[in-house]
Amino acid sequence: MNKQSIYGLTFDRLSSWLLEHGHKKGRAQQVWDWLYRRRVTDFSDMVDVNEDCINVLKEHFAIQTLQEHTKQESADGTIKFLFTLSDGNLIETVLMRHKYGLSVCVTTQVGCNIGCSFCASGLLKKDRDLSSGEIVEQIMNVQLHFDQVGKGERVSHIVVMGIGEPFDNFDNMVDFLEIVKDQKGLEIGPRHITVSTSGLADKIYEFADLKLQVNLAISLHAPNNELRTRIMKINRAIPLEKLMSAIDYYVEKSNRRITLEYILLRDVNDQKEHALELAQLIGDRRAYVNLIPYNPVDEHSQYQRSEEETVLAFYDTLKKNGINCGIRIEHGTDIDAACGQLRSKQIKEGQS
Ligand code: SAH
Ligand code: SF4
Repeated sequence: MNKQSIYGLTFDRLSSWLLEHGHKKGRAQQVWDWLYRRRVTDFSDMVDVNEDCINVLKEHFAIQTLQEHTKQESADGTIKFLFTLSDGNLIETVLMRHKYGLSVCVTTQVGCNIGCSFCASGLLKKDRDLSSGEIVEQIMNVQLHFDQVGKGERVSHIVVMGIGEPFDNFDNMVDFLEIVKDQKGLEIGPRHITVSTSGLADKIYEFADLKLQVNLAISLHAPNNELRTRIMKINRAIPLEKLMSAIDYYVEKSNRRITLEYILLRDVNDQKEHALELAQLIGDRRAYVNLIPYNPVDEHSQYQRSEEETVLAFYDTLKKNGINCGIRIEHGTDIDAACGQLRSKQIKEGQS
């Protein structure tokens, strides 16, 4: 049986585990220092941890369970990593360079069952959830890459926007957040972390109650039920009324604004009437609309990206109607950096 990754244990869980196995609780901090500060990839390198403890850790855990399959670097510094999981499945992780730091986009599931009509990830049905360790390991592997480059760069931001629906893998995703935020370890500020969901309302309530202080983004993509159901079938089960109520609860509970993601699809949802309807739907809610240029996907040829003027006009209409919004800058378009594209391409090539 494959050993689980030690990166998947929250600090408390590692402390209890060590105690149950006859080691002082305090060892947990020592082990975490080696994992997250000095970033060793072999238990034997934890030289000040006693030998019995190292042996028991080795017996039960692995540090690395992912293997780098390929790595592509774009002209703008975006790096797309494809990793092989211990069961042979492939996942992708993207590193983006921003003015404010290095941001990693992580995958949470192998495939996605939500099946939005415009998305490459949904082309492949969910095979399984990722463990918390496999999600943390994506961050660690990117950080280890920068450690090797040797310029002292640190991953400072995380977006949970890779393949999969994070709220359909809730517990593991929450453990992941706890681990990367923890000041005893990687210490990535919660305000530097954004989780994106297609809108699983029940989970939005649960997430709000956890008060994790991270940012929440909702894939809205349409201003009314008819259109949203057409492009995101999840809207049939969870219509906008339910979603907006969950959003209101989140904003009230967290005292934070919400991000609403809106992909602009040519002649589908990008007209002035849509912008006006969107402004009306949002009303005076504390929201920020992120307008996303569509990244064309071969299999979804019914969708094209909106013209630049249309994007700007949409933005203007929202602004004029009092909506706080911005247009997302694209990264790595020359290396298939759109959600799920590289993975699905690799799988197709592997099959042919
Ligand atoms: N499942 C979650 C998170 C992963 S998708 C969600 O849907 O929110 C992350 C974001 O990328 C979502 O807003 C999604 O709608 C968007 N996206 C998916 N395919 C895209 C494409 N081809 N071009 C641009 N954005 C895309
Ligand atoms: Fe899944 Fe998100 Fe893609 Fe929809 S947009 S299919 S929820 S990954």
